[in-house]
Amino acid sequence: MRAMAKVGTVYLVGAGPGDPDLLTVRAARLLGEAQIVVHDGLVDAAVLALARPDAELISVAKSRARHTLPQEKINALLVREALAGRDVLRLKGGDPFVFGRGGEEAEACRAAGVSVEVVPGITSALGAAAAAQIPLTHREGASIVSFVAGQCKGLAEQNWAGLAGKGRTLVIYMGVKTAPQIAEKLMADGLTPDVPIAVIENANRANMRVLRGPLAALPELVERERVKSPALIVIGDVTARDDAALQTFALEAQA
Ligand code: SAH
Repeated sequence: MRAMAKVGTVYLVGAGPGDPDLLTVRAARLLGEAQIVVHDGLVDAAVLALARPDAELISVAKSRARHTLPQEKINALLVREALAGRDVLRLKGGDPFVFGRGGEEAEACRAAGVSVEVVPGITSALGAAAAAQIPLTHREGASIVSFVAGQCKGLAEQNWAGLAGKGRTLVIYMGVKTAPQIAEKLMADGLTPDVPIAVIENANRANMRVLRGPLAALPELVERERVKSPALIVIGDVTARDDAALQTFALEAQA
């Protein structure tokens, strides 16, 4: 009787927002062992440097305009390698299940009879909030936090009502390009133009920037400061709590 061929496992691993110190111990261990690492463009070079020197690194970087590898091809690559008997480390920026398409990849693997393990990562909203010292919740004024995608099909039709405003913090991923529509949408939903916001670019990296201002000035802030992806937009009073924040806020509001 022929022995059953070994099928590899696909590890869907969160790489965190940048700084390798923010990897989980488990992610770092798997990265030090893996023979094949399939990674996104968002994964920091300093994180990839922790891979085995002889590991095969495959980039499936995606950018908004240019899809290096379409999602179906990524799914097929993971399945193919695993069916060939290799364990595959699929490394994603932040957390694999927060706007990371980890769900689609896990489904594709399971459908092909490939087992999947998921290792969570620090999603960029949490990494950015920590780095910018913006508490996403606060006993004195924020007891609801929501994460939304600012670039998705039919942004205008997405129902964000009630996600931002008094007592709430809204974190918007992928919102740089659509900042004007986002500001407009939130104000149409009833937010006042002076609600404080922060834009956090390259969180947890050496070139991080934190910009603050009132909601109405968001489009201008993004344009004037030439904010580039990856960046998050945080909407709510928690972005203007401390004195330092309030000072920048006042400056931005005057500008
Ligand atoms: N799975 C990732 C999100 C992928 S979607 C996570 O959990 O963080 C890509 C978006 O994530 C970017 O458009 C940006 O909004 C955000 N992002 C990822 N890394 C970031 C970083 N270092 N700084 C700021 N925003 C980041």
